[in-house]
Amino acid sequence: MAGPPERSSPIDGLVVERVVCQATRRPLRAPFRTALREVKELDVVEVEVHWSGSLVTAASVSPTPPITGETAGSISAAVTGPLVDAVGGVPLAEHEELFRRLQDAINGNTTAKCAVDLALHAALACPLGGLAPLLGAVGGPVRTDITVSLADPSTMAEQAAARAEEGFDILKLKVGGDDVDLDVARVTAVARAVGPEVGLRLDANQRWTAKTALAVLDRLERTGARPELVEQPVPADDLAGMAAVTRHGLAPVLADESVHSARDVLRVAEAQAADAVNLKLAKCGGLRPARDFISTAHACGLEVVVGCMLEPPATVAVAATLASTLPPHRGHDLDGGWWSADHDPLRYVPPSVLVADPRRLYEAEGRALS
Ligand SMILES: [Mg+2]
Repeated sequence: MAGPPERSSPIDGLVVERVVCQATRRPLRAPFRTALREVKELDVVEVEVHWSGSLVTAASVSPTPPITGETAGSISAAVTGPLVDAVGGVPLAEHEELFRRLQDAINGNTTAKCAVDLALHAALACPLGGLAPLLGAVGGPVRTDITVSLADPSTMAEQAAARAEEGFDILKLKVGGDDVDLDVARVTAVARAVGPEVGLRLDANQRWTAKTALAVLDRLERTGARPELVEQPVPADDLAGMAAVTRHGLAPVLADESVHSARDVLRVAEAQAADAVNLKLAKCGGLRPARDFISTAHACGLEVVVGCMLEPPATVAVAATLASTLPPHRGHDLDGGWWSADHDPLRYVPPSVLVADPRRLYEAEGRALS
């Protein structure tokens, strides 16, 4: 006797039919300055994946040329060229194959791959009612740092005091100017303005040498303004230099530009070049490669800090959801959405960020099957 008919999954039979890209610009609440660049307006590439069965899922990303080498134009060209060619016609039910083809389609272009990867995940999340259950996340607030843009010491101290007053308790100070005295002055001015209860992270965005980094850390130690973390003090490929800063031990070292992929994480671990690694979806190519990045880091005993680019809040919300699956630790690096004039679907409740309504994240990233 025949059993009951097998229930079909809502994703059965879905294939990518076409992908549409649109480049746009969105306002920021204030200019964002690092040692590498200044951003006054956010370039955004919106990507829509059109599936068979009239499902449309969407994701949006922002180019970060100094980090991934991509522009809005190159992202659009990669998505509508080799990436859609690789994933078109492959059933969503064979998602491991789909993600493998996406990553293998072209070298690099990780922000473009991230956009497509997130739109594919949005389709997988549809039957579950959201991304959080797909990732095994419980949601809830995630503690984050907040960036203080590179500026003169008094301006940075003023900005830092304002963020601390709002309730943020980890400040990420952009440093890495050409003048070591000025960098020391920046950090000590901020430390004086916010007091010892607020943690300070320094992000030099690759602009120091190991010798400079050690000189700065030494001087800060003597003034009592010891940072809780120093991020990417030296150029991305100078693992020996970063290992020297790590060995020094005055502040834990967080690798950022040195680690895009799981393979990079392994290299950093082998060189003993950092204590922690900064995972950004746009650097690694989306949620699927992020899984390998995290498992490699944990296997090597490296802490994972989830970060983000200066990018649309909906994309930062995906990173925040992923961060909520990791064990609690010193706090993540998810202030990218705070800089947008419109935070939706995120809410910053200092010292944390949360996805205001997980369903809204799902709706932001993927429009439902109906
Ligand atoms: Mg960084």
